[in-house]
Amino acid sequence: EAKRNGRNQYEFFRCDMEEVARHRLDVETDLRQALTSHELLLYYQPIKNSANMALSGYEALLRWNHPTKGLIPPLQFIPIAEETGLIHEIGMWVLVEACREAMRWPPEQVVSVNLSPIQFGRRNLVDRVKGALATSGLAPQRLELEITESVLLDETQRNLETLRQLKQLGVRIVLDDFGTGYSSLRYLRTFPFDKIKIDKSFINEVCESREALAIVRAITSMSRSLDIETTAEGVERAEQVDLLQREGCSHLQGYLFGRPGRLDILDEGRVTLSALQQGLLPAPDLQP
Ligand code: C2E
Ligand code: MG
Ligand code: MG
Ligand code: MG
Repeated sequence: EAKRNGRNQYEFFRCDMEEVARHRLDVETDLRQALTSHELLLYYQPIKNSANMALSGYEALLRWNHPTKGLIPPLQFIPIAEETGLIHEIGMWVLVEACREAMRWPPEQVVSVNLSPIQFGRRNLVDRVKGALATSGLAPQRLELEITESVLLDETQRNLETLRQLKQLGVRIVLDDFGTGYSSLRYLRTFPFDKIKIDKSFINEVCESREALAIVRAITSMSRSLDIETTAEGVERAEQVDLLQREGCSHLQGYLFGRPGRLDILDEGRVTLSALQQGLLPAPDLQP
């Protein structure tokens, strides 16, 4: 009896695993197709300068417009792209596309692009970034590369050297999701980041939780003394803006100022958020 149960469980488990594997294979096959079929697209989310609330630029956020499954958020396919190595090609497409898009914006506006730690595994990352700048004609100062601390967890020396070379190109290096993971202050000593993004989990609670406030305050004051800019991500309420301005956060990003959306060119070459994003058309909300 026990044996039979065990066996059933095993088979059940195996079925489950097969399903997971099949799903991954489906995604992988479709993802290879996605690049050539132009199913990938970039959404852009505005980032404000907190001192004058001017638009300082946009973060490019990847979406997959799947032919049958519809719009798929990045966290559902980027891990698979990373495991299969497809992230190299996808990442390059994102870089070139984002730089090209930014060329249409006023010259003081900056574009932020997320880099996967896997992309640091290719020796020619620096050349590829250089290539994206050359192809698009974008000034390097207008490109921000967002990385997470995992880039500095293994292959530390090699990746640090890559970061230094990227910085030498003139692009700005941003530490994303600060405060999550291992996030130690050590990372701020290993590399001169231009900007830190305070993870939205802290911003979310900053008005209610003394601990969250203390952490935000520590990050902003430390960044100020190290001459590093700070972006608060996930700003959703006006009361958070007041507080974050008082704490000296230099930039603000969140649904309050706009969800990630398509950018369309309107009259006179002026860039505005598209009707889609403003909710004039049904916009699929991808946030969980
Ligand atoms: P991230 O770089 O930390 O991007 C910020 C995420 O927070 C985005 O999710 C954005 O839509 C969401 N967000 C912005 N404001 C708010 C807010 O007020 N409230 C809440 N709840 N969420 C907010 P998204 O677009 O789903 O992207 C998730 C992650 O996927 C990104 O996190 C980034 O790590 C990754 N990702 C996105 N695009 C790319 C890409 O082109 N390449 C790579 N390697 N990773 C990407
Ligand atoms: Mg980011
Ligand atoms: Mg982030
Ligand atoms: Mg985040």
